[in-house]
Amino acid sequence: PESITVQELANRMAEKGADLVKALFKMGTAVTLNQPIDQDTAELLVEEFGHRIQRVSDADVEIGMQGEEDAPETLKIRPPVVTIMGHVDHGKTSLLDALRGTSVVQGESGGITQHIGAYQIKTKGGDLITFLDTPGHEAFSEMRARGANVTDIVILVVAADDGLMPQTIEAINHTKAAGVPMIVAINKTDKPDANPQKVRERLLEHEVIVEDMGGETQDVEVSALKKTGLDTLIDKILLQAELLELSANPDRDAEGTVVEAQLDKGRGAVATILVRRGTLKVGDTFVVGAESGKVRAMINDQGQQVKSAGPSTPVEVLGLSGVPMAGDQMTVVENEARAREVAAYRQEQATKKRTTAAPTSFEHMFSALN
Ligand code: GDP
Ligand code: MG
Repeated sequence: PESITVQELANRMAEKGADLVKALFKMGTAVTLNQPIDQDTAELLVEEFGHRIQRVSDADVEIGMQGEEDAPETLKIRPPVVTIMGHVDHGKTSLLDALRGTSVVQGESGGITQHIGAYQIKTKGGDLITFLDTPGHEAFSEMRARGANVTDIVILVVAADDGLMPQTIEAINHTKAAGVPMIVAINKTDKPDANPQKVRERLLEHEVIVEDMGGETQDVEVSALKKTGLDTLIDKILLQAELLELSANPDRDAEGTVVEAQLDKGRGAVATILVRRGTLKVGDTFVVGAESGKVRAMINDQGQQVKSAGPSTPVEVLGLSGVPMAGDQMTVVENEARAREVAAYRQEQATKKRTTAAPTSFEHMFSALN
């Protein structure tokens, strides 16, 4: 039932209806102006006329993320995005802090480290790794539920004295469901009652088989407290990242995901965006969730103002019309009119969804533009 009439599609593309009929005829479909065509045909037609398809609908809360893929030759290696999960008190926060402490300080101005929901470290070898600073499986599964699969690698923290606990097992299940590779960090190995081997054995019961036991999951013994094993952990992250061949096109309009957002007294609506592809620049016009805006300023995790941010870089963005939700997608658009249009549309859809359960019709599902 999802269809659009030829005339309606022509209107949306600002083309003559007769030209569409002609093109359809060439494609082997004989239709009149008021006849409906299906989605696939409509998409072909849109491309035929050199327009770009942009979905504006519920499915499209992720506008762009599921959009056109970048040509292979435009792709460049990007840093991995890592999330730390595990049972409460097993040392997630301590490990995040310890890893951050290993970062090679960049430049002399060295701003103040600030919490923006994600941070990036530079390893001794010069490689970058991005950590989502919101540990816990809730944040992870919530983001995923919103269609934002931003994590490339999960670090499962298991305290060597405590062993596998309920949230450890939940974290394993979430990671498996997401299809994300896992590295097990066996923490608190400084403790006298630490038993790393028992952790490895218990993991077998949940089909997490570490390399020593003939499996493929990397594991590493660490102590977030004594700061041991951190370099090995970093090496294993980099190795895993290499295997994943993570890449993105940095030379295009940016798309990103909201990691965190809030209303700041002095600065207004502020969101931490993890850039997924393209490069986000000051002055860019964007849509984020049901909000829109223009990048007024960007601040990195060091508290420094930056002018641009490439793939896998987290930045705090100022200049939003309102506060988006974690997991919302940000897409840079050509102008403010377009930004407002898409944002208004999304707001309308969000309201509709709340008041009726009616499915979105195809008419609402896309507009075509140049
Ligand atoms: P989270 O709940 O997983 O974020 O755990 P935290 O990082 O808050 O750590 C919980 C407690 O374990 C704190 O008291 C930490 O100081 C302690 N802790 C974390 N890592 C280690 C470690 O490697 N060795 C020891 N002995 N204690 C640790
Ligand atoms: Mg914590």
